[in-house]
Amino acid sequence: MKHIAVIGGGISGVTTAYALTRRGFDVTLFDRNRYAAMETSFANGGQLSASNAEVWNNWGMVAKGLKWMFRRDAPLLVNPKPSWHKLSWFFEFMRAIPRYEQNTTDTARLAIEARQYLFSWAEEENIDFDLKQKGILHIYRDKASFQHAEKVTAMLAAGGLERRAVTVGEMRQIEPTLAGDYYGGFFTESDSTGDIHKYSNGLARAAEKRGAKLRYEHDVQKLTVDENGVTVTSSAPEGDTEHRFDAMVMCAGTASRTMAAQVGDRVNVYPVKGYSITVNLDDEASQAAAPQVSLLDDATKLVSSRLGQRLRVAGSAEFNGFNRDIRADRIEPLTEWVQQLFPGVSTRSVVPWAGLRPMLPDMMPRVGPGNSPRVFYNTGHGHLGWTLSAGTADAIATIIQDRVGTA
Ligand SMILES: Cc1cc2nc3c(=O)[nH]c(=O)nc-3n(C[C@H](O)[C@H](O)[C@H](O)COP(=O)(O)OP(=O)(O)OC[C@H]3O[C@@H](n4cnc5c(N)ncnc54)[C@H](O)[C@@H]3O)c2cc1C
Repeated sequence: MKHIAVIGGGISGVTTAYALTRRGFDVTLFDRNRYAAMETSFANGGQLSASNAEVWNNWGMVAKGLKWMFRRDAPLLVNPKPSWHKLSWFFEFMRAIPRYEQNTTDTARLAIEARQYLFSWAEEENIDFDLKQKGILHIYRDKASFQHAEKVTAMLAAGGLERRAVTVGEMRQIEPTLAGDYYGGFFTESDSTGDIHKYSNGLARAAEKRGAKLRYEHDVQKLTVDENGVTVTSSAPEGDTEHRFDAMVMCAGTASRTMAAQVGDRVNVYPVKGYSITVNLDDEASQAAAPQVSLLDDATKLVSSRLGQRLRVAGSAEFNGFNRDIRADRIEPLTEWVQQLFPGVSTRSVVPWAGLRPMLPDMMPRVGPGNSPRVFYNTGHGHLGWTLSAGTADAIATIIQDRVGTA
């Protein structure tokens, strides 16, 4: 039986380990944390959103980004201090602008494919992850942004996604708790939401039951590749360990760039920081006043998801290296958004969080082999890792099966 190492135990690593285990590989997953999904896959926006497949590589976004640079509470913030990593990333981001439409359509297609794996694995393994299949409502406050959304809808439709324009009256029927003035909306009935951390931990346990070895608290220090396989050196509480494998899959999130360099590959993932708050809906009035349907507010770029008796709100994109600080001035707009759109929700109990999206410049995940026939990648899912990972995990498992074989 072929022995595969999976580096990283976030959503991409756990789904990869599970997909490989199902195909009969002997799998060992390494993660530096004590549990699965403690970094970016911990408290994200919760949306399983094919409808959010639009990549950011367009001139309109560049113009907005430049305008936002002068506002402290803007959805996008760039630390102007230059670094080679940041500059090369932005250069490659611009170079991907001609592929904006195609990449948006391809992402929508991938997101739709991913659903079948994500849901069927959860059902088969009996994973409770606060799944809510009530659709996602995109809300627009002005005509120009609504008209842009009409164009995006055509790109999503080319990828197989159906979403429909709704009037303000229909928006209120879809989500009666929503307050405020809007121009209109788009509703995607087939989208859903769920808790990424619960799902990842449930699926990691399922992979373990099927024979995968989960090596938590193993900080991978060194990767060495030769024509016969890969050696993984990690530091663990019991001391340094060295393991030999037939092949490896890189799923290390924002660490993928430096680790890929160790095995001779270039994977230009940048850590794009975002924030979330989890509002605990402790009283009945707040539970009734909080939305059931997931929202994406185009003006503020904030998303919300109802996770049981919690409301998760997430957003913002900061280019500031590996800084993980939770800034009060960046959290405040999220809490204010809840207070304005859902005034009946108590914001007494709010848990803030920040995470780093592993984002490639063209906003497409890297799924496939590296320079060595023993090295594979399933990483760089950016703002859509929860939506896409189950699909890309199955895809990389197929590629490995073809190239390495299970026996
Ligand atoms: C604010 C915010 C909101 C978001 N909202 C959504 C959303 O609504 N829908 C959606 O689809 N996506 C969303 N995302 C994106 C999504 O959360 C990410 O794409 C996804 O979690 C990335 O998963 P990952 O497995 O690639 O990375 P991670 O979850 O970061 O996993 C990488 C793992 O690698 C491990 N690792 C790294 N280096 C080493 C090492 N040397 N040794 C051992 N282990 C190592 C880490 O411990 C970590 O567990 C959001 C992201 C943010 C920040």
